[in-house]
Amino acid sequence: MSRFDLSILETAQKLPGKPRHKTREVRVGTRVFGGDNPIWVQSMTTTDTFDVDATVAQIHALEEAGCELVRVTVPKPEDAGALSKIRERIGIPLICDIHFDYKMALAALDHPVDKIRINPGNIGSVDRFRQVVRKAKDRGLPMRIGVNAGSLEREFNEKYGFPCPPAMVESCLRYLEIAEGEGNRDIVVSLKSSDVLVAVEAYRLYAKLADYPTHIGITEAGKPPYAVTKSAAGLAPILLDGIGDTIRISLLGDPVPEIAAAFDILQATQRRVRRPELIACPTCGRLAIDLEKIIAELETRLQGNRLPVKISVLGCVVNGPGEAKEADIGIAAGNGQGMIFRNGEMVRRVPEAEIVDALMVELADWEATNQHRLPKTKDAEGLGRRKLPTVSA
Ligand code: SF4
Repeated sequence: MSRFDLSILETAQKLPGKPRHKTREVRVGTRVFGGDNPIWVQSMTTTDTFDVDATVAQIHALEEAGCELVRVTVPKPEDAGALSKIRERIGIPLICDIHFDYKMALAALDHPVDKIRINPGNIGSVDRFRQVVRKAKDRGLPMRIGVNAGSLEREFNEKYGFPCPPAMVESCLRYLEIAEGEGNRDIVVSLKSSDVLVAVEAYRLYAKLADYPTHIGITEAGKPPYAVTKSAAGLAPILLDGIGDTIRISLLGDPVPEIAAAFDILQATQRRVRRPELIACPTCGRLAIDLEKIIAELETRLQGNRLPVKISVLGCVVNGPGEAKEADIGIAAGNGQGMIFRNGEMVRRVPEAEIVDALMVELADWEATNQHRLPKTKDAEGLGRRKLPTVSA
């Protein structure tokens, strides 16, 4: 008889994970947001948009890193004038970003962009917002209503006291209704704050009320590496709640590292698994092999590998066999040897020098025997022995 109430454990979910927020599909150029589509990774350039060569060069660097959509700021007419030249030289959808000046939004919509982002809190008036909504609809272009705690309308700040989650969500819903009134439902929503707690709660609240896809991010996260940790701290609860259809990590400076950070957060939350998950212990005085060398070699050999497989490599027999049994492929080290596990069963032992080769052989075999389980697209969502339940609601 335990002094603890164990009854709660009997009904607890053994495989944790919440279903994905059910959102309508919205097409943005070649990408479709929402529904069961992947959570797309996007970024934003830091160049003067009118400087076409510099902007295109940065977009190419982002594309090379895996960026799937890109946003450029359009504060001046010469920036709007550069949009078509930029778009014809890049391979991913182009989003124009507008603040303050609705005329710039209208001007940008005269050019071949794939989406427009506006911040209704600083666009000036409902009538100006309406004009942008109408023109986007006429052009058949989706728009993002990007609510930001830092520029919330005075009306909502006064009603709620400060830019808190309900104030942000009410602002967002107001503009959604206006857009719907104009017959425009090709909308994506963001509710950003630099305060992690406010952002998480705003997205949670919104997801209870509406089904437009969400662009998620922790705005103005600052300088890496803290900014990456802060973004992960805020985005993980949002993603684990099933919310998010596109993601942007806001890092000070060069945007290229935003891409790897976004994919890492999606991988860790199992919302978009695009490479093997490597489980390695931190090592300690019990270490029985040169684990750092083995993991470094393994990482090199796995570069570009997209298999959604869990590989565990642990440095001794304390947790090695247990972790190895829960992975698709596992190694537990002991006495200069590695015990290899497949699907929970120990299959053979190899000397330390052969561990990496042996893991690669097991991986090739795992791929061959799991063809039927592999995703049809490149972007698996949580496939693996201990995967989260499917993320489509
Ligand atoms: Fe130490 Fe073994 Fe744990 Fe690794 S698995 S940290 S070597 S006890």
